[in-house]
Amino acid sequence: MQNSVFSVDVEDWFHILDVPSAPPISEWGSLPSRVEVNFNRLLDLFDEKNVKVTCFFLGWVGERFPNLVREAASRGHEVASHGYGHRLVFEQTRQEFSDDVRHARGLLEDISGVPIRGYRAPGFSTTEETPWFFDVLAEAGYEYDSSVFPAPRGHGGLRGGRREPHRRGTNDKLIEVPITVADLMGKPMCFFGGGYLRLFPYWLIRRMSKQVLAEGRPVVFYVHPREIDPSHPRLPMSRKRRFKSYVNLETTEWKIGQILQDFPVTMFQRVIANYPSLVNAHVS
Ligand SMILES: [Zn+2]
Repeated sequence: MQNSVFSVDVEDWFHILDVPSAPPISEWGSLPSRVEVNFNRLLDLFDEKNVKVTCFFLGWVGERFPNLVREAASRGHEVASHGYGHRLVFEQTRQEFSDDVRHARGLLEDISGVPIRGYRAPGFSTTEETPWFFDVLAEAGYEYDSSVFPAPRGHGGLRGGRREPHRRGTNDKLIEVPITVADLMGKPMCFFGGGYLRLFPYWLIRRMSKQVLAEGRPVVFYVHPREIDPSHPRLPMSRKRRFKSYVNLETTEWKIGQILQDFPVTMFQRVIANYPSLVNAHVS
């Protein structure tokens, strides 16, 4: 079975997008943090299962908890960037987005001492409205991105986007490894991370993962540290949003353990290095 990717978006419980009660960045520092305890628990789980993963650190989190960045790197995981301020891409100008991703990359390189190659956008929020997205990342020194959600979605989503890893941007400079979607009863859906992973039963996640692998694609799994912490503080929000944000927090750690047991997973840079059409197609 080919390798799939396991990734963590390293952020705190209050980094939820698109809810009116989400606190502004000026208040983040005064809120009780849960990211340290939860991320360390994930790191222990990865050690126990003997897997190396990609950690997309929010720059703000890395700056506040540089020990977490160093700990991830020292345990052999890949450090990557989730931007600095956790703003939706389509709510930023090209210049604002460029400043954010450059700032995060420089900061995480200084802390970790290793080159930062990968980026993931908050809320997978690259859309038809942000055609400059891939070029800005390449200009900022990134080699790959995993932010394209090739199906309709609340925020973000690129309808008709390619599902397999491919090259994007001017001169095909950037590697794109899209978030994994698979067809269930003719509908493209994600089963492999965040609220989708929490919502669906494990037998279905397993079946859909096998379907993706049979189509010759790697599965991109992704989780957030807060998702293994049923007791984290909650933000006030509508009933529908509350369900999406907090459903099945009790069973997520168990599901992650099952995935790590049933599927060979590793970090992005290894999957990319072994994906033949990406290695040979680069035009410089
Ligand atoms: Zn995020």
